[in-house]
Amino acid sequence: MMAPTPTTDDLPRRFSDFETLGEALDYAATGRRGLNFHDARGNLARAYPFSELRADAIACAHRLIAHGVKPQDRVALVAETGADFAQLFFGIVYAGGWPVPLPLPTSFGGKESYIDQLNVQLSSCDPMLFLFPRELEEMAGESGRQKAVESIAFEDFIAREAVPCDLPQAQPHEIAYLQYSSGSTRFPHGVAVTHHALLSNLAAHSHGMKVQDSDRCISWLPWYHDMGLVGCFLSVVANQVSTDYMKTEDFARRPLAWLDLISRNEGTSISYSPTFGYDICARRMSSQTKAADRFDLSRWRLAGNGADMIRPDVMQSFVDAFGDAGFSPRAFLPSYGLAEATLAVTIMPPGEGIIVELVEETDLSGGDATEGRPQRFRSIVNCGKPARDMIVEIRDEDGAKLNERQIGKVWTTGPSLMVGYFRDQEATDACMVDGWLDTGDMGYLSDGYLYIVGRAKDMIIINGKNHWPQDIEWAVEQLPGFKQGDIAAFAITTPGGEEAPAVLVHCRTSDNDERTRLRDQIRERVRAITGMNCVVELVPPRTLPRTSSGKLSRSKARNLYLTGEIRPYDIAA
Ligand code: ATP
Ligand code: MG
Repeated sequence: MMAPTPTTDDLPRRFSDFETLGEALDYAATGRRGLNFHDARGNLARAYPFSELRADAIACAHRLIAHGVKPQDRVALVAETGADFAQLFFGIVYAGGWPVPLPLPTSFGGKESYIDQLNVQLSSCDPMLFLFPRELEEMAGESGRQKAVESIAFEDFIAREAVPCDLPQAQPHEIAYLQYSSGSTRFPHGVAVTHHALLSNLAAHSHGMKVQDSDRCISWLPWYHDMGLVGCFLSVVANQVSTDYMKTEDFARRPLAWLDLISRNEGTSISYSPTFGYDICARRMSSQTKAADRFDLSRWRLAGNGADMIRPDVMQSFVDAFGDAGFSPRAFLPSYGLAEATLAVTIMPPGEGIIVELVEETDLSGGDATEGRPQRFRSIVNCGKPARDMIVEIRDEDGAKLNERQIGKVWTTGPSLMVGYFRDQEATDACMVDGWLDTGDMGYLSDGYLYIVGRAKDMIIINGKNHWPQDIEWAVEQLPGFKQGDIAAFAITTPGGEEAPAVLVHCRTSDNDERTRLRDQIRERVRAITGMNCVVELVPPRTLPRTSSGKLSRSKARNLYLTGEIRPYDIAA
């Protein structure tokens, strides 16, 4: 346990050293910090001290118990960033139920696919109650009706009278909540997280980040994803860190408003984003404008990166765009984690920034990570050291432990591993063996640091030779007119029965000659990298499927393409 640190508001600081989540909020509520919700223009819409959150959550627990919620009952709720979700989430925890955060609709997919996704998730978590913001009545309400789950709008539930009653006492090894994985490689799976796993992980990463008294968190990350829920909501409660939120949809519309919030913070800032968030901001900053005229990013202490491949080229463009506003590249804090381990598995020591190794691409597809032979390289990012109490091993296909710098499957163990996927023993057994978790990712260890190479499931295997989709995608992106997220690469079987790489590429021109030229250019580019002929299909912008947390899903892209749901442009010969 960490020694308490005195704070400005006289609350002895306790960094996540609690046994249960309810206890963490009980404690935070004795201080003066809390959550702050900002509107689309960046103005403070609601200050919500932890003390108020706790009082509201307890009232919600009373309502839930009166409604019949019993320990271990699942209560699904759409994770809209705001005071309603926050109090209901903790209310369910205080009532002994298991909150199950579900996604908000995104701009990908439309209404039908959102209802389908909720339907599958409601079937898999089998909740006794489903709660959602009233503005989603049409979609979420429809899903509740289709699945015959009792469904109530947040506002209506919160408006009910709360009659005080006894609350159950949670135990550390009981399940605290279910968290769905993102669904990058398959349909999202519901991970069961215990209080002990959660608080161990929070303690490990707050220790890794060296959380300090002057820190404030700023976040637009969605609360239905582990990085947003655990990293920027539950952790700030357990560490008593005041936090400024903007909604994810507001970030998508006005990404630079995120940096405005960071600039306005007078203390030190902690803020996380996957690569794409940094990318959007760097692109929005026009080369004409000086970042220093609008932003002051000099107190941004930790700019976390994770959740997806970290792109050093993107991080460099972010530094180029915002360096003059005081952003320090040393603020970058790479980390690696997954829902099955609650959140963090490895984390970079603060101040080291992004460290890359240039590894020969052919070595990445099976072999040792040899640095610096003169052919085609990929920059592999150092994702840091195992978080406290976590252990990482690299193993081969047969489960044998590999040596330093040998590339293989990343396995991990430690106190924050999930109990299992909820009611899915088969999927649990497929990735958990003797208390160790097969993360499904490939990487290598060097000097105690973990380097992530890619997801095993996404690997393209052709004629026994392995290729990484991102090597193909990133190479195509370098062609003029393309940007990050425009390309998905995967393997298909051609009509002639052969395995071949295929790429789907967003195309913004309607000119047939130009399309032909682009297709040929992409084909050439892929041939230069893989030595193979590739099927190149140009598709309308915004067609490639993303998870609700914004990650590209190659397996879904492949399925949609093969079933004809993604229709490439016809290119006349
Ligand atoms: P699903 O398991 O449902 O297919 P998912 O794996 O994307 O989706 P999450 O648990 O949200 O669901 O994400 C964890 C995954 O994100 C990791 O397994 C890894 O593939 C990727 N990831 C996380 N951090 C990093 C990182 N620093 N570098 C590369 N990839 C990362
Ligand atoms: Mg996963």
